[in-house]
Amino acid sequence: MKIEKVMVVGAGQMGSGIAQVCAAAGYQVFLYDLKPEFVERGRNGMNKNLSRQVEKGRLTPEQKQTVMERITPSVTLNDAAKVDLVIEAAVENMEIKTNIFSQLDEMAPQHAILASNTSSLPITEIAAATKRPEKVIGMHFMNPVPVMKLVEIIRGLATADEVYSAIKEMTETLEKVPVEVNDFPGFVSNRVLMPMINEAIYTLYEGVASKEAIDDVMKLGMNHPMGPLTLADFIGLDTCLYIMETLHKGFGDDKYRPCPLLRKYVKAGWLGRKTGRGFYSYE
Ligand code: NAD
Repeated sequence: MKIEKVMVVGAGQMGSGIAQVCAAAGYQVFLYDLKPEFVERGRNGMNKNLSRQVEKGRLTPEQKQTVMERITPSVTLNDAAKVDLVIEAAVENMEIKTNIFSQLDEMAPQHAILASNTSSLPITEIAAATKRPEKVIGMHFMNPVPVMKLVEIIRGLATADEVYSAIKEMTETLEKVPVEVNDFPGFVSNRVLMPMINEAIYTLYEGVASKEAIDDVMKLGMNHPMGPLTLADFIGLDTCLYIMETLHKGFGDDKYRPCPLLRKYVKAGWLGRKTGRGFYSYE
């Protein structure tokens, strides 16, 4: 299964990072979002990122330009007809994802693999929205994509072995480390990480300590590079809430109930870094 052309659906923080690492590895990339300005925002982020690499001497200006030129902006899902692999990185919402996958299934060539960067949603359910469940797989990149080495590769119930192998190999060409996991809510990464973040939000909610104190305890005491509230802002509080809801619904266990303070912030539009305000302010 030869993968040369890739489409990334969703040009947010994850989609633009995925597009960047694919282009840097030599793939031709279509970067899709709902509106041209959303794609442009993603490309601008990527441009800034690559400029920093040039300043640090890790990339020449010519290499940066080559990477940028491999990315074609797109606002039509029909571009899926031109690729061998689609990586979906739209918002963490099952209805939106199944809708995208059923459209991609109509448009992508028969041989194409459809991957999702979902943080927690069942791959098997996403795959069921298509007529090619054997070609649907999870490729869960970590944030920030250009920096983090791990990609959790999630096999749905019907994912074919050859599809798994092709995606494992492709991930290695991105200089990432694929780790195979099975399809359960939150996989491994967010089943372990997100309840810890949610509990940190509860400690703030219950007045156990200030946000800075909670982050300091985890940074200085547990050697975490970032405190859990800073990390939640970095991930996006909407994404954190979606993941907690997926765990809660998926396991039917109240230990995964999202903290009311998290819900309140999301309702207020305080989504973390991406909106300039979450637990902290980012002016
Ligand atoms: P984001 O909010 O930065 O970006 C989401 C993008 O999806 C936006 O640009 C939005 O315009 C676009 N979008 C919305 N509806 C769409 C549709 N119907 N079709 C196409 N695009 C659409 O979110 P993000 O942090 O990049 O997360 C994207 C996905 O990656 C989610 O599934 C999330 O769970 C997953 N993820 C996030 C992180 C993280 O740390 N933020 C880490 C790993 C995986």
